[in-house]
Amino acid sequence: MGMEASERDLSGTVIALHGIPPHPLHMAGMIPPNALKELQQATEGTAPVHVQISLHMENGKLRVEGRVTGVVSLICPRCLNRFEQPLLAEVEREYVAGKDPANLTRESEMVDDIVHLADGIFSVKRMAEEEMILALPMIPLCRDDCRGLCTVCGADLSRNPCSCAPPPDDGPFAALKKLKGG
Ligand SMILES: [Zn+2]
Ligand SMILES: [Zn+2]
Repeated sequence: MGMEASERDLSGTVIALHGIPPHPLHMAGMIPPNALKELQQATEGTAPVHVQISLHMENGKLRVEGRVTGVVSLICPRCLNRFEQPLLAEVEREYVAGKDPANLTRESEMVDDIVHLADGIFSVKRMAEEEMILALPMIPLCRDDCRGLCTVCGADLSRNPCSCAPPPDDGPFAALKKLKGG
């Protein structure tokens, strides 16, 4: 934990695009969970998010490269167990100052590679939180082969298989078996 304690808190770090020096700017630090409200809402909780980025201006655009990592708690929809999911985002984004000409919603800004900053202010926390939300799995399984819960007794089939009879086979293949006399 010694490393964590000395890590720089970047949750309040903002940079005006016009004030960025001509040479690349390197930044490393973390964002504490209490500054990550949206990520907390999208998950069951989060550990501090770690940020390592470099920033530099290129043709009037701020180019941000690096990586953002974290660990969030999620609930597996099959077995309903809570589990820890490591997240990794390789960052490669460009920012420009000014209103977005297309007047995109915030959501579409997140998937766009060029982000328009109406106030011309880049926020490390906002970028890191968006990257972590984008890195969340679509279906957050605790493990790829999670077998879920028994529909009869509710046992967690990955951990302690039960002896209940499997549900009746009534899928399309059952009908096919009957046709074939199997
Ligand atoms: Zn599961
Ligand atoms: Zn069972």
